[in-house]
Amino acid sequence: MSGTVRSVLALGSNLGESNDTLSLAVADIVDSPHVRLREVSPVVLSKAVGGPEQPDYLNMVIEIETDLGPYELLEHCQAVENKHHRVRTVRWGPRTLDIDIVTYGNLVSDDERLTLPHPRAAERAFVLQPWAWMDSSARLAGRPVTELAEQADDLSGLAPFEGV
Ligand code: ATP
Ligand code: MG
Ligand code: MG
Repeated sequence: MSGTVRSVLALGSNLGESNDTLSLAVADIVDSPHVRLREVSPVVLSKAVGGPEQPDYLNMVIEIETDLGPYELLEHCQAVENKHHRVRTVRWGPRTLDIDIVTYGNLVSDDERLTLPHPRAAERAFVLQPWAWMDSSARLAGRPVTELAEQADDLSGLAPFEGV
């Protein structure tokens, strides 16, 4: 790979064998010769925020290095979601797998198809807290991720996932 960019991806699952799905999804993401895994966060158990009444989520983030362009990376992530039987029904409804691109280098984009940084990441403890545990010096939109995590409304609904 040449001309690589670092990207942070947020993964979530609240249907099926979520813990297995997350592990398999990370493997599928980095299975591409265009993607290299740099860091993996702990998995957190979190109460669903918004959307309908639904099961708790398992969430995690990873940092990758890639030579895919931003839209190629989005397509790659959506292919992995589809492989894990992601079905889109209700917005923010339960799902086997969600993979969001939190950051792609320093790219800023307001395209609806790919908004960067992810427009809701800065207020979501289920993204910020695992990210802060993975990389305590991480920053998002100029602010420390640790600080943003402390201020997120959903922080109290989150706990480290200890496995089953
Ligand atoms: P949320 O974006 O609030 O986390 P969601 O992840 O459930 O909600 P999806 O159904 O997975 O939403 O995605 C809806 C659309 O969002 C996708 O078709 C995709 O084109 C678009 N999108 C925009 N920005 C991003 C991004 N940074 N990462 C992933 N998808 C994005
Ligand atoms: Mg999402
Ligand atoms: Mg998504």
